[in-house]
Parts: sequence; structure tokens; C-alpha cells
Amino acid sequence: MKDIATPSRTKDILSRHGFSFKKSLGQNFLIDSNILQRITETAGLTKETGVIEIGPGIGALTEHLARTAGKVVAFEIDQRLLPILDETLSPYDNVKIIHEDILKADVKTVVEKEFGGYDRLMVVANLPYYVTTPIIMKLLEDKVPVNGFVVMLQKEVGARISAKPSTKEYGSLSIAVQYYTEAELAFIVPKTVFTPPPNVDSAIIKLLVRDEPAVRVQNEDFFFTVTRTSFAQRRKTILNNLVNGLPNGKEKKEHIIAALKKAGIDPSRRGETLSLAEFGMLSDALLNEDI
Ligand code: SAM
Repeated sequence: MKDIATPSRTKDILSRHGFSFKKSLGQNFLIDSNILQRITETAGLTKETGVIEIGPGIGALTEHLARTAGKVVAFEIDQRLLPILDETLSPYDNVKIIHEDILKADVKTVVEKEFGGYDRLMVVANLPYYVTTPIIMKLLEDKVPVNGFVVMLQKEVGARISAKPSTKEYGSLSIAVQYYTEAELAFIVPKTVFTPPPNVDSAIIKLLVRDEPAVRVQNEDFFFTVTRTSFAQRRKTILNNLVNGLPNGKEKKEHIIAALKKAGIDPSRRGETLSLAEFGMLSDALLNEDI
């Protein structure tokens, strides 16, 4: 059977089912098998790997995953796609579709139920672009037991997620994701491989979940508050951002200066120059200064 991801087969499936794209659900379907092959290769799938997919659409990526992985569980929010997926994925008996919003789903319980016996679990998806960051952060913060992610998203978001310190893309999103994972931008994808083409360029990123977070901190929530506050106004110094952004920051300016000194950070530096390790030291030093 011809791949789903060809312009002619996709067109045929969509027109036979009278399907119209919902922009609000980020529906841009892949119509290029080469890209799909590169995605599954990047994820290093084998029959011993379980895969969670988000947004199977009409099954273009799902079919490639089903061929190379042991089992695929895919969450799809749009009910209109269910009968289509029933048809397109009928040759594969290792795929389960769950009709649910991934942001509301209890993914941990699904993993326990569906992937017993799988030692390696990957999230592989062409993500709906209106919710890429919330989806990735939900799965990381809920500590869903996966080994990694290979996902398509907006190029610009991919650059921010994988950015290193002292670059213009580096910010609180880079830190939030790199706290949990080793992040790498795998490759760039042109608009022409989708129907309809999205407005922005896309990228595949690979995230390998760390055994332990990148830095050990006394209080994770406070660590993330400190990083977000430090980037509130990028052109301001770290001291200024912390004084203006932390609760009681203005009254506690001297304590903030003391904490920066203890962490070995010059108060005149900008947040974007600090490594994860430095943010970790700073967050602990601020806590110890009663901030
Ligand atoms: N995987 C298909 C492909 O590559 O051709 C479709 C990818 S398309 C970019 C995104 C898919 O995510 C759509 O099928 C859309 O209906 C689905 N979707 C959007 N929001 C979702 C959500 N919150 N939970 C689950 N699926 C969602």
C-alpha cells in the first residue's frame, strides 16, 4: 500500500471523507515520506520501543511509527479524524488511538496500562503548533516516564528550547526544558512538506530525558521563578530584574546582592549569560538569604 504521506493519497483520503482543516487545532499534515523516515531514524526506534504520538491527523507519521516501533499510542483531539484513522491504520495491529486532549489526559496512567514490558519509551510527534510548549512542559513536569522526545515544532521555538547561554534565543524556556533534558535541534523542515503549509518554518528537536535534573536545587518552583524573573526584561541586569520581579525584591535588595555574591555572580551581568548551574547556585543562595 502506498504511504499515506504522499500528496495524492492524502488528497484522496481527505476528499473521500469530506475533511476540512481546522486551523485552530494546528492541523498541518505531512505529505513527504522522506521527512517521516528521518523522524523515525532520529528517534532510534526498534520493535523494543514504545511510542506515544500526539495528534496523529490522518496517520501519516503513525504509520511510519507502527512499522518501526513495537507499539504506538496516539492521542487525537479531533473526533472527525477517528473514522479516517480507522481506515488508514487498519493494516497495523500495534496502534491504539485515544480520543483525548493531550493537555487533559492522564498520560502516566496510560503509560502504565499500555506499555508494560517496554523498557524504552519515546514521544514522537508533529505537534500542533498552537500548544507545543504546554505539551512538552506538561509531559516533563508530570515526569511521564519517557526516555525522550523527537518532535516537530516551529523553528523559532526549537531554537529557543535548544539554545546555549549568551545567545539571543537563550531564555527561561531553554532552562525549563534543559533542566529535564539534553536538547538538540536535529534538523530544519521546509514548509513545502505539509498540507496546508504552515506560516512558519519548522524544526525537529530531540530531547533526551536526564536521569537526574541538570542541577540539584533546594526548591524547583523557586528555581523556575528565579529564571523567569531574570529574563523578565532582557536588557536589564540580573540584579535589576530580581529586585523588580521577586516578591519583596525592592525591600530585600541588599539580600539579593549578598546572594549574587555568594553564588559568584556579578550583579551587573544579564540573565542570558548565566548557565543552568549558575541559576541553580543563585536560586539556593537567594533561599538562604530568606528571599
Ligand atoms: N501527525 C499528523 C501529521 O504529521 O501529518 C498531524 C499533525 S498536525 C500538525 C497536529 C495534530 O494534532 C492534528 O491532528 C490535530 O487535530 C491534533 N491536535 C491538536 N490539538 C491537540 C490536543 N490538544 N491533543 C491531541 N491532539 C491535538
